[in-house]
Amino acid sequence: MATTLDRFSVGLADPQEREPGVICKCACGCGEEIVAGYEYIEAEGDWFADTSCFLKYHGAEWRFAEVS
Ligand SMILES: [Zn+2]
Repeated sequence: MATTLDRFSVGLADPQEREPGVICKCACGCGEEIVAGYEYIEAEGDWFADTSCFLKYHGAEWRFAEVS
């Protein structure tokens, strides 16, 4: 296995370059990409891929209401 790949990676791997239409990633940190043309949850500028992401981000969860 060659270990000197530095010269080849320069100019090819652009960290700023993204897939066309990818606006950002899910704010919860799951890594899900937010892609233009699809529907997501937006809250004050933060984008979430799904309701579970939104709930996780805010430390909220669905629960059964129980009589204590
Ligand atoms: Zn997420």
